[in-house]
Amino acid sequence: MNSDGLPPLRDVIDRYDLRAKKSLGQNFLTDLNLTQKIARAAGNLGNSIIYEVGPGPGALTRGLLMQGAQKIIAVEMDHRCIEALNEISAAYDNKVEIFERDALDVDEVALIGDTKGKDIHVVANLPYNVGTALLVKWMTAEKWLPWFKSLTLMFQKEVGERIVANPKSKAYGRLSVLCQYRADPKILFDIPRQAFIPPPKVTSCIVQITPRVQPANAPDQKTLERVVSAAFNQRRKMLRASLKSLGIDPTFNLAAANIKETARAEELSVEDFCRLALEYQKNK
Ligand code: SAM
Repeated sequence: MNSDGLPPLRDVIDRYDLRAKKSLGQNFLTDLNLTQKIARAAGNLGNSIIYEVGPGPGALTRGLLMQGAQKIIAVEMDHRCIEALNEISAAYDNKVEIFERDALDVDEVALIGDTKGKDIHVVANLPYNVGTALLVKWMTAEKWLPWFKSLTLMFQKEVGERIVANPKSKAYGRLSVLCQYRADPKILFDIPRQAFIPPPKVTSCIVQITPRVQPANAPDQKTLERVVSAAFNQRRKMLRASLKSLGIDPTFNLAAANIKETARAEELSVEDFCRLALEYQKNK
């Protein structure tokens, strides 16, 4: 037994025959000290609701409960994991509600329902492609401040570096602007490959993203997304060329936003992109 009175994760994985499936991007954590460290980073667990995506056999779920989580809403799409997760919930007074769903299709506000005034903190260790798609879904929400107080997510280190990247660096791109435009992302710590079964090819890291209130003159989210995508889709081209795909002459908007038409996407700060999006908004 582990210190939480439940069997070691390796035993759970064997007992429920949870051989990692590549198609679901499965790499499982087994060290409860490590998952408790992630849980401690995730916020005020005792007085909030945790939305956990992709709990798998439950290493992170158990870490969260051991650190005092009172309510966890968990979404896992692998049917094989559900019984193992039910066992954890039963051992913890049914504090975990488990939904067998694809997290990409979930309407989180509807699923979580009445929060009774509690904050929601999101915690997830997901495969790279699903994690990035969910991150974009959450960061481009129409309503801001959004339904979550923080996102504590595991990513491949390279993706984490893209999220926090500064202008004029190789890693700076669409994901950096989308995440930094109305939130503060930071990398908290790395997770070595050996912490997983099976070990992935690269180091992972924990990224935390905290939404902040937007200024009154913030550009419309959809316009910003369009401008940023157009600029980075052809990141080697000058903006006067790459932004033509937006359908109106870029030179006028670039001049109005006080940005050189010969600049390239990676030279623009998040504030530059916001000014540019505001000009497009005015002139479309
Ligand atoms: N959180 C567990 C851990 O840390 O050991 C499992 C991590 S594993 C990298 C990713 C988990 O996400 C798997 O259990 C997988 O089945 C699940 N998953 C993958 N795609 C998903 C999706 N679209 N919706 C919900 N869960 C998903």
